[in-house]
Order: sequence, then structure tokens, then C-alpha cells
Amino acid sequence: MKNDRKDCDVVVLGAGAAGMMAAAQAGQTGARVILLDHADEPGRKILISGGGRCNFTNLEARDSTYLSQNPRFVRSALAQFTPAMFCDLVRNHHIRWEEKERGQLFCQNSARDIVDLLVAECRRGQVKFELNCRILSVRRDESGFEVQTAHGFVRTKAMILATGGLTIPKLGATDLSLRIARQFDLAIIQPAPALVPLVLGRPYPDLAGVSLTVQASLGRKKPKFTGGMVFTHKGVSGPAILQISSYWHTGEALALNLMPELDVMGTFEEIRARRPRARPLALLENLPQRLGRVLVGVACDDRPLIEQPMKAIRALASLVEKWEVTPVSSEGYAKAEVMKGGIDTRALSSRTMEVVSVPGLYAIGEAVDVTGWLGGYNFQWAWSSGYVAGRAAACYVRGAPVTGQDS
Ligand SMILES: Cc1cc2nc3c(=O)[nH]c(=O)nc-3n(C[C@H](O)[C@H](O)[C@H](O)COP(=O)(O)OP(=O)(O)OC[C@H]3O[C@@H](n4cnc5c(N)ncnc54)[C@H](O)[C@@H]3O)c2cc1C
Repeated sequence: MKNDRKDCDVVVLGAGAAGMMAAAQAGQTGARVILLDHADEPGRKILISGGGRCNFTNLEARDSTYLSQNPRFVRSALAQFTPAMFCDLVRNHHIRWEEKERGQLFCQNSARDIVDLLVAECRRGQVKFELNCRILSVRRDESGFEVQTAHGFVRTKAMILATGGLTIPKLGATDLSLRIARQFDLAIIQPAPALVPLVLGRPYPDLAGVSLTVQASLGRKKPKFTGGMVFTHKGVSGPAILQISSYWHTGEALALNLMPELDVMGTFEEIRARRPRARPLALLENLPQRLGRVLVGVACDDRPLIEQPMKAIRALASLVEKWEVTPVSSEGYAKAEVMKGGIDTRALSSRTMEVVSVPGLYAIGEAVDVTGWLGGYNFQWAWSSGYVAGRAAACYVRGAPVTGQDS
């Protein structure tokens, strides 16, 4: 370890999506900023996001598209830095994008464009990057904070925690922000993998690779998600499953409507009238055959439809409309897109992300208890929380007032 000493106004821990946005904003608002990361390049998670095309925002981002113990918390930051404002930035950097489903915006070329945008914005704010830099400890005293790193000491007036969540450990995810939060007596909402494939107690390995559109639900109080599902060797995955996984708790059964766009019993009656001598599998012509065989095996025998009691046909319809499976676990942080839980937002100002009990300390991005749905919401949270924290930290060091309203 070296004994070098550096001074700055704002230090940002973590050069990911939220950290680079915060560093750029603080720098462009006049603060001297150092951005620390233990990785050898910034924004590694951005590079693998959205299948390499980065789903960088969602035009429908609003509080109901996020999970948090403090559901209104996101409102102020999302209002201060909106998806449209990020689109302006993307446009200014001449990045071409396209809208996929329902407001999901993706790069047309590569996720690298978004990393380059953030790095360029940081350069505009004269942010100093310190990469390959192990962070050893953090200390607060009357004049600010001191961060001890493998490169030496950094003294700063304000500090922004932006080291993200625990997903994809092989990309260098750690619990550093959570540990520092605990050091400052902040509460942590139990972290868990979210947007993650689910493991079934009785999986269907023979169906691995079979995909279809389903509606996944957990109970009346939780949202339902319609979208793709794919069987895996261990259980189920695909957009509808990733979405519902964020709301799933151990022990809960998952209800799957396998033909969410059809009146199932009406469709069955119509097929039975049209093809009375067909076998029951014909009722499931809208489903992949391999799956159809499994379902028929549960509800009916192999007699022609005309000989099947209505009870058996109704049982098959109920099974299709509400196929219950009970996951035993998720596939964990190695396969999750995000971590849910994190630093309890009730300790933070919703306007600035500042820790109310520790002036000059801020927490942003995935490290805090805000988890977006699948579809660009998580990056929008990184941009919005990073934007407000970066500007607020720069104002804090100057003793200037901060604009914006609380949620
Ligand atoms: C496969 C995958 C695909 C995704 N696709 C999308 C998508 O298309 N759209 C979307 O909205 N969201 C997507 N996400 C989620 C999104 O990537 C995250 O929500 C977002 O990156 C969180 O930003 P962050 O800045 O809080 O954390 P990160 O982007 O994870 O950045 C944290 C940074 O902190 C650094 N760090 C961690 N620990 C330490 C330490 N101890 N010392 C120093 N540095 C440290 C890391 O190296 C990293 O650079 C995806 C996630 C994954 C895993």
C-alpha cells in the first residue's frame, strides 16, 4: 500500500452506471471529483446489459415500476432527471437507439456507446478516474471523509456510495456500500437476488428450451406479468419469470396461465365440436407439443375428445389457466440481473440521496433499496439517483442551496 495523499471535494466509490453519472454531474457543477473503482475499466455491467445493447431507460418509469420498502421514495429523483433527459444526453452524443416493447429504449449499435457517453461526461467535469484501486477503509472526521485505498489516501468533503449490488460476482460485485452504510449505523433491507430465474422443486428437464407466453402471478396483492417464459434444466426463466421473481418469497406457489390471451374453455369447446375424434392433445394446439403432453398426462386419458367426460376437459382448462409450480429457490446472484433490498431509503433524503444523519454522505443506484422492473428501469434509477446526488454533493461542498422537492 502506498502513502500518497490526494484531496478532492467529492469522492465517488464505484465507476458503474450511477457512480459515473454522479461523478459527471458533481464535476460539471464545479466540484473536484475522484472516481474510485477496483475494476480495470468503468461500467462493466453496462457492457453486458440488454444483451450487449443496453436497455438504457424506460419511458414509463414511475414509482409503481419499482420495489422498495419506501414506495414513493423514487418520485423526486425521477422527476428531477427523467427518461427524456437521458434521451437528450444520448441524442447529444449521436447514439442511435430504438424502442422495443412498451417504452424500452436500447442502443442500436452497442452498450459500449453508453459507457463512452458516461466517460465523456465525466471528462467534461474533469473527473479523475482511479481504476484498479482497492478500497480498504473509510473514516469520517470533522473536516469530511478519508478513504484509504491501495493507492494511498483520499481526503474529501463529500462521499457518494455507488458500488452497486451483489449480482454477477465474477464482474467484481461486492457489498462495500452496504458495509460502509452499516459503519454509519444505517439500516439495511435484507438483500436478495431479483430479476432471476427460479429453481423448481420438481423441474421439467425434458422441457428444457421449451418457450411460450404466460401470465405469471403470485397473489391478488402483487402485480401479474405477461411475457415470455422458457423452461430450463432447473426450473423456469424468461421475462415473465424474471419479473415475478422480484416479488417471490420462499414457500410461495407461482400460478402460470399458459394461454393468457385466450378464453381457454371456449377454445376447447370449439376444438371439440370441430374435431370430436381428435385426441386431447389437439386441445393444446396453441402450446408447444412437449408441454401439451405433460399437461394432458395430468388431466385426461388418451380417448378421443367426444368420449372424454366434460369434467376431464374442464380439469385440463383449469390446469392451463392456473398451472401451479412451487419454486424452491432462485438461481442466485450469479444469474440475477439485480439485487433487491440494500440501504434503507428511509435514512436518505429523496431529493438528494444524502444520508440525513451524516451530512456529505450519499448513496445511489443498486446499493439502495430501490429495484426496478425488467426493461430499463434499473438504469433509469442509476441515472436519476446519480444525477441528484452528484449535483447535491457539489452544492454541499460549496455551501450552496440545493434545488428540487422531496417525494
Ligand atoms: C446481465 C445483466 C443485464 C442487465 N441489463 C440491464 C438493462 O438492459 N437495463 C437496465 O435498466 N438494467 C440492466 N441491468 C441492471 C443494471 O446493470 C444495474 O441496475 C446497474 O448497473 C446498477 O448501477 P450501479 O451503478 O448501482 O452499479 P454497477 O453498475 O454494478 O456499478 C458498481 C461499480 O462499483 C464497483 N465496485 C463494486 N465493489 C467495489 C469495491 N469493493 N471497490 C471498488 N469498486 C467496487 C464495480 O466494479 C462497478 O464498476 C442488468 C444487469 C445484469 C447483471
